[in-house]
Amino acid sequence: MKPVLAPGLYIVATPIGNLGDLSPRASEILSTADVVAVEDSRVTAGLLRHIGVKRPMLPYHDHNADHVRPGLIARMASESVALVSDAGTPLISDPGYKLVRDARAAGHLVVTIPGPCAAVAALTLAGLPTDRFLFLGFLPSKQHARAEAIAEIASVRATLVLYESGPRLAACLSALAEGLGDREAGVAREITKKFEECVTGTLSALAARYADAPPRGEIVIVVAPPGEARPPSVEDADSALVEALTRLPVSKAAGEVAKKLGLDRRELYARAMELKSPLPLAGGVGEGVVSAPSPAESPSPNPVSGETRKREGN
Ligand code: SAM
Repeated sequence: MKPVLAPGLYIVATPIGNLGDLSPRASEILSTADVVAVEDSRVTAGLLRHIGVKRPMLPYHDHNADHVRPGLIARMASESVALVSDAGTPLISDPGYKLVRDARAAGHLVVTIPGPCAAVAALTLAGLPTDRFLFLGFLPSKQHARAEAIAEIASVRATLVLYESGPRLAACLSALAEGLGDREAGVAREITKKFEECVTGTLSALAARYADAPPRGEIVIVVAPPGEARPPSVEDADSALVEALTRLPVSKAAGEVAKKLGLDRRELYARAMELKSPLPLAGGVGEGVVSAPSPAESPSPNPVSGETRKREGN
């Protein structure tokens, strides 16, 4: 005989790709709950089929939540209600917090069955600091609103975690580079699925990588915290200038580096002219003149490294 669940609300995390990630406890709750509140009944029917059970489902999503919630709260007095989303942890960029709030207010039991969450899974893949992180969900898709949202958190000393779609990925990465400076980042895609990958690099290099090749599948962006607040060294300025000069004329290169490193544009312009000036013949290098590296020595214009478990052909 199946155990009977105490009345109340059960928040059940479900897989974000690999069905093997459904925990035994999640499976048990989904098998025994009186009703399962679902985002999309077709998606959850598939999960229930996978564990070989049939349970009554009730749609609970952004468009009907206000209407359905009071009835669900009333049912929790005598029935067990499991809440799931299509994938991952309910409430995380998914509906549910108002249901939890109202269930608590009504004095009902509220239990969580934790499990997969794309944001946390991506953090574990990116190789960036995890001691402090800020989850931003989806940024606004409109350019101006997105830039404002980025400006708001530019000085937060934490790793940032964002959800994004393939078609908007490159624009989002460019906006992040523009608003935050060119930090290290990771793009984690299709986590726990066949073509899982996590590509790391600077924001601008990642933006360039995806500009003409929007990736398929589901995506999480992870961005490193702002660097230590040490003033940029002469070497930092020189290497940023040398890199910028491979792409831009002198005045634009100086402008870009001035903005990126917070240094004086005119001084950088003068330095860029020095860096660009042709080298004297061997033995005649004057003091203070630094040669621009040859193409073989110069930093890669697209310093992206891909750590890929299985790769798609695209
Ligand atoms: N509640 C879910 C969670 O716990 O991760 C997130 C739901 S949100 C509506 C869906 C977004 O999560 C996707 O657009 C994508 O950005 C991210 N996501 C979900 N599954 C993913 C996966 N397997 N790999 C990468 N990102 C994923």
